[in-house]
Amino acid sequence: MDELTEAYVKWKYNFNLSDNFNEEYSFKIDAVNIYTLEKEVCIHRSENTKAAVALVSAGYLGTSPEFPSLAISLQTLELYYTLRLFKPSFSVEAFAKALCHLYSIPFHRGYRTGLSDTFDVYLAIRRRIDSQVAKELGHEGANYCVLNSCPACCYKLEDEPELEFSRMWVVDRNNSLKRMAGIGNREVSDTRIFGESDYYLSEDFVNIYAGEIKARPLACNIEDEDPDELQSDWVDEEHGDPTDGIEDSELAQCTENWKAAAADQQKKMWGIFHESGYFASACRHGFVLWVADMIRSGELAKYPLAIVAKALGVLPPRWLMGYDIGCSFGGTILRSSLGPEFAKQKCRTCVNAFHGYSHNAACQQKYHPLNILGMGLEDLETLERLFSSSNQLAPLIRYMTAYRRRVFIDIFLQQWDQEKYQNLATMLHNNYVQALNILEDEAKALQADLLAKGITIEDLETYFVEESNHLKEIGKEAEGDLHAVAYVELLQRYRELSSACDNAAADFRSQTPADYEFLASAASYSRNLSDGRRAETKRRYLREQRDKTLFEVVQMETAMSISPRWEPTDREYIETIEYMNTRKYRQALERLYKLVIQRLFELHKMNLSFTGYKMRTHISNALQRRSKAIRNAVKTYNSAAAAIGRPTLDWVKVTHYSFLDQFNVLQDTRHSILDKKWADPVVRHLMKQHRQVARAKEEIQHCNIQIRRLQTSIFDEDKKFQKVLEHLKDTSMYFPVHDFINRRRAVNQLLLSRIYQTQALPGFTGNRNPGVREGSGPPTSTSVPMNFDLPDPDSDDGEDAEDDEIVDGMGAVIEYMSNLST
Ligand SMILES: [Zn+2]
Ligand SMILES: [Zn+2]
Repeated sequence: MDELTEAYVKWKYNFNLSDNFNEEYSFKIDAVNIYTLEKEVCIHRSENTKAAVALVSAGYLGTSPEFPSLAISLQTLELYYTLRLFKPSFSVEAFAKALCHLYSIPFHRGYRTGLSDTFDVYLAIRRRIDSQVAKELGHEGANYCVLNSCPACCYKLEDEPELEFSRMWVVDRNNSLKRMAGIGNREVSDTRIFGESDYYLSEDFVNIYAGEIKARPLACNIEDEDPDELQSDWVDEEHGDPTDGIEDSELAQCTENWKAAAADQQKKMWGIFHESGYFASACRHGFVLWVADMIRSGELAKYPLAIVAKALGVLPPRWLMGYDIGCSFGGTILRSSLGPEFAKQKCRTCVNAFHGYSHNAACQQKYHPLNILGMGLEDLETLERLFSSSNQLAPLIRYMTAYRRRVFIDIFLQQWDQEKYQNLATMLHNNYVQALNILEDEAKALQADLLAKGITIEDLETYFVEESNHLKEIGKEAEGDLHAVAYVELLQRYRELSSACDNAAADFRSQTPADYEFLASAASYSRNLSDGRRAETKRRYLREQRDKTLFEVVQMETAMSISPRWEPTDREYIETIEYMNTRKYRQALERLYKLVIQRLFELHKMNLSFTGYKMRTHISNALQRRSKAIRNAVKTYNSAAAAIGRPTLDWVKVTHYSFLDQFNVLQDTRHSILDKKWADPVVRHLMKQHRQVARAKEEIQHCNIQIRRLQTSIFDEDKKFQKVLEHLKDTSMYFPVHDFINRRRAVNQLLLSRIYQTQALPGFTGNRNPGVREGSGPPTSTSVPMNFDLPDPDSDDGEDAEDDEIVDGMGAVIEYMSNLST
């Protein structure tokens, strides 16, 4: 392998090629070269050169190391590699077919296999060169990437203001990168484990955390779903999921919603997959930290716990982690073996913005990004973007070996990070502009509205406290006496039966004709007899039922020492009826809420996942069904609300986000709540706006720090590059390192020009001069080290456009959801 790598570098950078060869040892071989379309090449070599090495020196790679029958040109492999970087779904088979087409020969599987095997070797050579380049640049060592790849997170400067959180990062799972369990002997033939990835956590490491949390099954099954659909062999009854560690009843509703959504996903036939997806983590700027494969399981607690273990060991203290179930997962961490370290390092969890809206109000107050001090405008949705991109790999890796699957995911993640780096200054710029706009527009509107309402910022702060105090009380409302409910229900039944009994007796009497004549005619006698018997049977049956119920009533009265019997005009009776109506109301509201949330999740999935047509059809059918269910739930809710004199809802409002926000207000059945200031929808909007303005101010502070970090790291890097190149002069490593540096410098120039653009914004308040990296000693030179020739950052914004498209897509979902009226 070393020889091949060396030969590759010589070929690639075109130096030191000896033409001392022996005609005797030269050989001809069938070849594939997309640029020349030659069918055969003659390979020269000297006596001591191996065939494989001679091939590489000539720019070819053999399909097998010892006796290759076919050679593929390195340029062809390089082309395929490059295409794949930008189109991860471009399969080896498609490329092999394209080659066959150019060569005017029919495709057969052998070509694909040959190309695939050769590509493996090509990638191995590349990895070797990459790691040598990294070594020369000092980019090696455990956790180098996590600690360095994102300058905005990692390049801490001296004298920076202290931020609330040292790092913001996010974790989530994705189910689309599944791989079928071994088919036939395929698994046996390739047992390699790809261990060279900087991102992957090993299965053994993950399993250290397997036994930490015990499973706690979903308390209630999702309604209107067929329980038999659930693949019971898939449900892990022993190992807990990320919500199973909590004992906090306040978050019970969040976990229930989450479990229901998770169970919904597990209904698919996943038993046939070995890897059922992957767990990923990334910083707020999108740089990937660690990933772990999910092996034959759903979203178990061990995956995020393993990633948290890494974070506690590697990242600086006081980090903040976002996760769609971050509220209860915080409790799960604390109850695991990682708890003490987590607490000691003062780390915390939160939920990401989109999922946050589906959590209850008490949870949102503590865990939603909008309400967290020091959070800035971060929505923590960065993994949605990663997943929507990595989903492209899904159809390709489904039938690969475990080894190749990881290789391809690893390449994808590296490329992803490259693009995130290239886009970093633009991202910070956009955040800056967004924050400035909020300060410009929202802050002004807020001031005007506060004035109009006659309240102040301090009032809003008071309302937050009042709301949160109130939310603590929720669920603690006076519970009605369940015995009284049972007793009143029994009395109601007894009364119904009594009147039915009286009616039946009346019926029986009416069966007796007015012109009754003894034995008038045989026919009418038998008819009368049969009608009479039926009425009599009914009467007797009802009487039995009534007596039985009366017996139960008396029994209950004895047990509850009730005497005399409650009458509908009695105070106790009325209070119990009121309580029963309220309970009915609450149940109707809860069902409605659950349905809306489920639909929210479905819409989310429909938009962002690279789901196939069939899947989308399935989801949209489910949505139609759900819409009908929501309509019915609204009807039930309205009649329950009318019964207790609460305002009714209309369908259009229910499908709007604001319903979720109002849920906890509606949930409280004490009438006084509707008079509370903070329950007023206009005030609620102002409270939100106020928070947003506060977050925008923090965002400006974050951007000021992070832009300067990036700027400094670019200047420092350039100084280092000059030194390294100097040092490597006249060695073979000079060329690949130079190649790397050239590309990096071009990207850095782009970043700098964007940084200068941000610094030129009218509202920019940061420091425009580069700083000194913490712990790097006094600066060696204060002047800008090189003359950057700055390109126009707007000239190519392909990457931005794609990101914006996704964000726009998100907006479309919300829009769609708010407008959905059928
Ligand atoms: Zn970052
Ligand atoms: Zn929650």
